[in-house]
Amino acid sequence: MKKIAVFCGSSIGFNEVYRNEAIKLGNYFIEYNIGLVYGGGKIGMMGILADTMIEKKGEVIGVIPGLLRHEEVAHTNITEMIVTKTMSKRKVKISKLVDGYIALPGGFGTLDEIFEALTLGQLGIETKPVGILNINGFFNHLILQLDVMVTEGYLKQSSKEMLIISESVEDLISQMFNYKVPEMTKIINKVVK
Ligand code: AMP
Repeated sequence: MKKIAVFCGSSIGFNEVYRNEAIKLGNYFIEYNIGLVYGGGKIGMMGILADTMIEKKGEVIGVIPGLLRHEEVAHTNITEMIVTKTMSKRKVKISKLVDGYIALPGGFGTLDEIFEALTLGQLGIETKPVGILNINGFFNHLILQLDVMVTEGYLKQSSKEMLIISESVEDLISQMFNYKVPEMTKIINKVVK
């Protein structure tokens, strides 16, 4: 995996454990020469991650819709900033650039982005690994909700298993590297293409 999209909060959270793990992820990307593609902000978890990598001369590509490109929020010191016309064009652009997706703690924006990536996988439109870094049990309730969706018949167990979950950066990325695309997804992907 040469480039990974990271979706994460435009806020920093109340517990510094989140910030520390974002720094750890940035350092891991540097060590293994992985480029970051992200929302292009300089605030919150996004800013921490981008700054960690920029300080060490890593590759950081921001993809931001024009409407969010205010001075207060957009990063001005990254490798490349791609400006898109709309939020949906931004998602398409990000998906063209990356080999996988990771979500760190965040709010609506983060959930929207990671679930879109999962939906593309479920429909076989993409076959890239999608992971969440479950820092401090942040996503525990979300994971339980996915179980409810399976037991109530709205989500296939096989689709749920596409989501890679780990509490450690090293383990998450190693699982992503070893990700095996489900057979069903491969078949659908061929038809879609
Ligand atoms: P949220 O989780 O609601 O804080 O939203 C964060 C996610 O949405 C990030 O992964 C970004 O891609 C996008 N996003 C939200 N707000 C901004 C912003 N001000 N600048 C750039 N991207 C943003």
